[in-house]
Amino acid sequence: MRKHKALFLDRDGVINIDTTHAYRREDIIFTDGLFDVCRRAHAHDYKIIVVTNQAGIARGLYDETQFYALMRWMGERFMQEGCAWTDYYFCPHHPDITGPCDCRKPKPGMILRAIADWNIDPSASLLIGDNQTDLEAGKAAGVGRLELFKGQWPRF
Ligand SMILES: [Mg+2]
Ligand SMILES: [Zn+2]
Repeated sequence: MRKHKALFLDRDGVINIDTTHAYRREDIIFTDGLFDVCRRAHAHDYKIIVVTNQAGIARGLYDETQFYALMRWMGERFMQEGCAWTDYYFCPHHPDITGPCDCRKPKPGMILRAIADWNIDPSASLLIGDNQTDLEAGKAAGVGRLELFKGQWPRF
């Protein structure tokens, strides 16, 4: 079966401006150029997959129901913009509170799960994160291209 390539996107700091523990619609300001990049990804046959640490859940700042509601709304925005994401993965843990896990970046658990779930070829894939830990997770999962986001989108 043919493998797919993916554009792995971190959420906070890449998709939306990082306002620290965003969980409400009013917390979300989409980054400039995001949807253009995502439409380009679609045009080049990348599946868009979001991978996000959400330690605010472990910290009790918001719960999974609130997180899911926000992601449903964000996912609809992507759809309206003509660049629906394929899936998203989140880590609700924090090591100090819930103990170690295999999903919190820099661990590659979320990316490995996505690779298996969606038949992704990691070496043909691209990851964009605003944190070194995003890139470490991508590297550990074998993602071929890793880009640190500082407001400029990589060309592809
Ligand atoms: Mg981030
Ligand atoms: Zn986790």
